[in-house]
Amino acid sequence: MEKIGIMGGTFDPIHYGHLMIAENAREQFGLDKVLFIPTGNPPHKQRQHVTEAIHRCRMVSLAIEDNEAFAMDETEVESSDTSYTYLTLKKIRDRYREAHLYFILGADSLFDFESWKEPEAILEHCSILAAYRKHEHQESFFQQIGYLNCKYQEHFFPLNTPNLEVSSQDIRNRLQYGRTVRYLVPRNVELYIRKHHLYEGEAMEDEKGRDREKAEKGIG
Ligand code: ATP
Repeated sequence: MEKIGIMGGTFDPIHYGHLMIAENAREQFGLDKVLFIPTGNPPHKQRQHVTEAIHRCRMVSLAIEDNEAFAMDETEVESSDTSYTYLTLKKIRDRYREAHLYFILGADSLFDFESWKEPEAILEHCSILAAYRKHEHQESFFQQIGYLNCKYQEHFFPLNTPNLEVSSQDIRNRLQYGRTVRYLVPRNVELYIRKHHLYEGEAMEDEKGRDREKAEKGIG
């Protein structure tokens, strides 16, 4: 049976953390292919400024061009609706009817999983491969996997991958303040960012968006 990995993300911009977990998922679970699906209109980032999809997609294409098992999928950016994972997975399922689907995510998303729309519908279509991310405690990461496996009947698996303490937010901040992003993103992605002056003067806007969101939710 064909095994397809799905790496969803805002990819604003894509970085080595994303590529590292996708490649290790490919190896560990013997995936035939990993689809990178940039979000169109992500529900959890509605208040943040998100870079135009065309740039995020081009950066993904550049980042994955040297890995023949990686491919980009524009399902979400082609739609103007909010990008809910369960709907995206239904579309992918229609295309790969016989395949086993594996959704790849980082631990922060694992802790949010229950708040995603239609978690049961997501698990109807795929297994979840979760990578530990440095800022979570490793013990609570494995506890969360155990807890979700009890609740949703054994769909969650830990990924064995090196931890890269890198985030798109960190990269945007570095660019805002003129700092280096070399070795955090592939060189061709860095050159693309520089050529198109992406993220110059945007990190502050991001922070403002987050503060607004927190204030509205009454957090922080
Ligand atoms: P931002 O900093 O803007 O929130 P991000 O770096 O978390 O972005 P996303 O595009 O939102 O990147 O992430 C897509 C997926 O990749 C998520 O499941 C996230 O948990 C995971 N991910 C991102 N960076 C890492 C990393 N360094 N290690 C493990 N997983 C990661």
